[in-house]
Order: sequence, then C-alpha cells, then structure tokens
Amino acid sequence: MPEAPDVVTFGEIMAMFVATDHRPLSEVDHFEQRLAGAEMNVAVGLARLGHRVGYLGQVGPDPFGTRARETLAGEGVDVSALRTEPSAPTGFQLKNRVHSGDPTVVYFRRGSAASSLGWSPSAHEVIGAARHLHVTGIFPALSAETRDFTFRAIATARAAGATVSFDPNLRPSLWRDSSEMTTVVNDLAARADWVLPGLAEGRTLTGATSAERIADFYLDRGVSQVVVKLGTDGALLRSRDGTLRAPAFPVRAVDTVGAGDGFAAGWISARLEGVEQQRALRRACAVGAITTTSEGDMDGLPSRVHLDTVLAE
Ligand code: ADP
Repeated sequence: MPEAPDVVTFGEIMAMFVATDHRPLSEVDHFEQRLAGAEMNVAVGLARLGHRVGYLGQVGPDPFGTRARETLAGEGVDVSALRTEPSAPTGFQLKNRVHSGDPTVVYFRRGSAASSLGWSPSAHEVIGAARHLHVTGIFPALSAETRDFTFRAIATARAAGATVSFDPNLRPSLWRDSSEMTTVVNDLAARADWVLPGLAEGRTLTGATSAERIADFYLDRGVSQVVVKLGTDGALLRSRDGTLRAPAFPVRAVDTVGAGDGFAAGWISARLEGVEQQRALRRACAVGAITTTSEGDMDGLPSRVHLDTVLAE
C-alpha cells in the first residue's frame, strides 16, 4: 500500500483548447490542447516540490478525463480518489487568444463531471488522513453538491487536526450574483488557517483597499495567516505577530496565468516543512515567478532542483 498523501486538494479539471488568431471567433491559425484547473495546478506544483499529494475530483468518460488522470499520475499525484463519472463529460474552456487585447473564453463547467462530485465515505477517509487540505473558491461555485463537498471537506480536515489553506480564486461568472459570491467565499475563508487572496479579489471580497486592511478582515474572522499576492510587487504576509513583505523575483514573464497557483504550492510546501515565515514567503514568490516564465498554467511549475537553484542565486 502506498503511503497516504500528506496534502490533499479537490476541484475541477477542464480540457483547455487554446486557439490564436488576429480576430476573435474566426478561422484560427494555431490550436493547442491542454488541461486547466487551479487545484490541479497546486497539486502538480506540490508534487514537483517533492510532497505526497492526493487529488479528489471527477472527470468524464472521455479522452480528456483519461489525459487528466494520466497527467496527474505521471506527476506523482495520487489519483485513487479521482472518479470517472459515466454520465457527464469533462468540462472545457475554449480560449481564443487574439494577438492584441484580452482573450475571449467560453467555458463548460456547470453540468460537467466535476460539478456532480458529491461527498462520500472515501472522500472522508482521504481528507481525514491528510496533514493539509487546499481549497479554492472555484469548486463550491459549480453546484449545490460541490458547495456541500467543500464545506464538509474543510470540517473533516479541521476535525482531524489538519491545516487548511484557501485561495479565493474568484470567478464572478460562476456565481448567481456578487453578494452570493462574497458571502460564500468569505464564509469558507474564515474556516481556513491560511488565506491567499490576490489584491484585486481581496478588495472585491472585503471592501478594503490596502493589502494590510484586506488581511485584517480575515484575521478578525479567526484566520491565522493571510498572504496577499501582489503580482510584480511580490506578496505581503500578515498575522497577529505582524507584517512581512517579500519582493517579486525578477523574471521575464511569458504567461502569468497560474502564478497564483504556483505561489500557493510554494507557500504550502514551505509551511509543511516548517520553514519560517519570511523564507516561506520568499519560496512562494519564487515558485509564482518561475511559473510565469513558461506558457501554460502548469508547464512552468518548477521541480525542487529548479527552485533550489533560483533560491540560491
Ligand atoms: P494571481 O495569479 O492569483 O492573480 P498574482 O498575479 O499576484 O496572483 O501572482 C502570484 C504571485 O506570483 C505574486 O505574488 C508574485 O510573487 C508572483 N508573480 C506573478 N507575476 C509575476 C511577475 N510578472 N514577475 C515575478 N513574479 C510574479
């Protein structure tokens, strides 16, 4: 029997089709197939840093589901709790990158296999055996089942004495309205030990403008450490012990999608190893920065050797 995962996360996996053209919604010049999923990126990031990671989720009975399973397993992530749901397809996103301006993106998420993942005795067992649980605000937005799953997962981890990290990963289009989003996401955040908002989403969720006040909002609700991601300004960590900052690592960024997931993997990795806070923040910034140096959400996630080289420079 392989050892139980130390860190567990759960979420949605989507097939991602990336097209590139000069005009949106036309014939495209270039096309790629990838996988997308914030929680999956964190799982892969942690596995590359040498942690035993488990991933819970549901994919469809299609080639994208198979590819997701094989990709995660190939990265060393335990997929024994990744179910194949026979009656629903794997979700997808179709991103059309125009040569100038923001890409247009079409999603299929509600109604995907991931969206019907219900709580089960095996979820209870896997999560109850982990030292750490990572949660995002995306999964609970998919359906009533995934919301229930998310609350139960946090309760199970806490009851077992595990730590919980929460990244809001705000996706406003998945919620009925902004008040529902804010209420549910803040409710989940308040149940976590470490909350990792980006500056813009922290502002949306708390109404505060500065990183310090955003952090205070969650500290007042019982969270022990809040790490606000500040893009090219690095990150700020605030707890009852005070405030620490770390600058961004100077890199040539190619694709910043997935930087926050890499950052989360770096932070969780350091904290699970007992690394003190300032160095943990530096490691998180390093993993976030390295992630931006390659195209694709997970391609740039560094191995432990790569990370150690960057940190030694
Ligand atoms: P999110 O992806 O959640 O929006 P950010 O864009 O703030 O979050 O990125 C997360 C972290 O990754 C940042 O706090 C920073 O440490 C690092 N990072 C992001 N973009 C860059 C960049 N262009 N150069 C260096 N580091 C970056």
